[in-house]
Amino acid sequence: MATDGELPPEPHQVFDTILVLDFGSQYSHLITRRLRELNVYSEMLPCTQRIADLSWKPKGIILSGGPYSVYQNDAPHVDSAVFQLGVPVLGICYGLQEIAWYYEQTNVLAGEKREYGHSKVNVARHAGLAEHIDKLFDQIEDNMTAWMSHGDKLSHLPEHFVTVAYTSNAPFAGIAHARERLYGIQFHPEVTHTPEGKVLLKNFAVSICQAKTDWTMGRFVDKEIARIKALVGEKGQVIGAVSGGVDSTVAATLMQQAIGDRFHAVLVDTGLLRLNEAETVKKTMSRDLNINLAVVDAADLFLSRLKGVTDDPEKKRKIIGNTFIEVFQEKAKKIAAEAAGSPQAGEIEWLLQGTLYPDVIESISFKGPSATIKTHHNVGGLPATMNLRLIEPLRELFKDEVRVLGKELGVPEEHVWRHPFPGPGLAIRILGEVTPEQLRIAREADHIFITEIQAAGLYKKISQAYAALLPVKAVGVMGDKRVHSQVIALRAVETTDFMTADSFEFKHTFLKRVSNRIVNEVDGVCRVSYDITSKPPGTIEME
Ligand code: GLN
Repeated sequence: MATDGELPPEPHQVFDTILVLDFGSQYSHLITRRLRELNVYSEMLPCTQRIADLSWKPKGIILSGGPYSVYQNDAPHVDSAVFQLGVPVLGICYGLQEIAWYYEQTNVLAGEKREYGHSKVNVARHAGLAEHIDKLFDQIEDNMTAWMSHGDKLSHLPEHFVTVAYTSNAPFAGIAHARERLYGIQFHPEVTHTPEGKVLLKNFAVSICQAKTDWTMGRFVDKEIARIKALVGEKGQVIGAVSGGVDSTVAATLMQQAIGDRFHAVLVDTGLLRLNEAETVKKTMSRDLNINLAVVDAADLFLSRLKGVTDDPEKKRKIIGNTFIEVFQEKAKKIAAEAAGSPQAGEIEWLLQGTLYPDVIESISFKGPSATIKTHHNVGGLPATMNLRLIEPLRELFKDEVRVLGKELGVPEEHVWRHPFPGPGLAIRILGEVTPEQLRIAREADHIFITEIQAAGLYKKISQAYAALLPVKAVGVMGDKRVHSQVIALRAVETTDFMTADSFEFKHTFLKRVSNRIVNEVDGVCRVSYDITSKPPGTIEME
């Protein structure tokens, strides 16, 4: 195993990196995403990051927007070393105001009215001045649509700055320092409401900062496999839970390609999986992806512990989470004992986790971690009692990058594009007590819904879809007989980040077809409804 002195390099040491310093805007992470879409590697850190504590040097720095006003007593400010580092700096919204404030602490004022929404930006060019000034708005035409969201504004330019963009309402929509590569824009280039925003970010990262555009999943794979090998060493063994979801499948595939059978995947069949799920995962993992997989059938244990739990969703989640840890640990111990006995391998010292970059951002976010709304779906929190070191090969990646990585690694299409499925499984889609009979109903109804969605070619357009079983009974007439049976609620949402979501607008004929099939084919159901609640106030799952 590598000792700490010779740790393999991290992406920000390998790739040219643009550092985003986050002042707490809801769009901050989008700056990082847009840059990566341009194949420029980017990471985000809180605005309070001290530059002297960084072990690497960024190619450029972007200061994000934020909800504060720079002139407030408790407003956050960046380490002034940012301006002495000798790399280009771009301030967005609050970031622009922060730059102005750094130079002259009197020129940011509360405007009379908040400017929120689309506006038209014109470009001011300065042919006679330093060359860098015009570069930010290179190839951007006058009358560019831009998204604004601010209440404060500059009263006048700080000394040595020139205006590079303006709107009818904001005379300083874009500013640049006459000598340094230092820029501010009042609008948000990172949101899709600013269609040319990507051109601007590219101008900054590629033309001004001269960052290489070498962030591709192909290069990431090579680097990451080398990094895993170096971390784990020649004999090291890694264990990890897999669920059939995109993240754990891709993480497991990466491990398999790095260390082969020294990665041990464990699938716990909780009995709460969808129709044929355990079988499908087994087939894909062992046969198609060659992963060293052990399946533990623990359905009876989970069901016995869930018996009689009728009205408290948090209790359900806790029972499932704890039982999962117990079953996983027991299996891990067995695998570890076997591994230790084999001559060519060492002990299991590592635990694989499919942590993604949004989880990392969430945990370092300037606002602090947002309040827990629900116990987390994922099977996180495993290692506490296990005494294993964590290995998180996806921790630098966004979800869409994980999908591209999956394709790169040869994970089958249908697995790469799977909708997320929560750790507690169907248990949180069965409102009320989870029994074998309720599971059968939920499973059959869900299968019909998803099959119809696939047949209609809608699966990729929808972010997540499922059938839930409501804990009520309704009256119906079936075969001339009055029945009193259960109600299915269908849910399908569209979202880009799962933070907010809208219900998917199906054609009525589609919903009728699904409803007919469920009522006719699933014993015990006499009604089907469609949940049109958005998130917020709803959540994507029901419990
Ligand atoms: N709070 C500042 C303003 O209202 C900055 C807003 C922002 O960064 N979106 O002007």
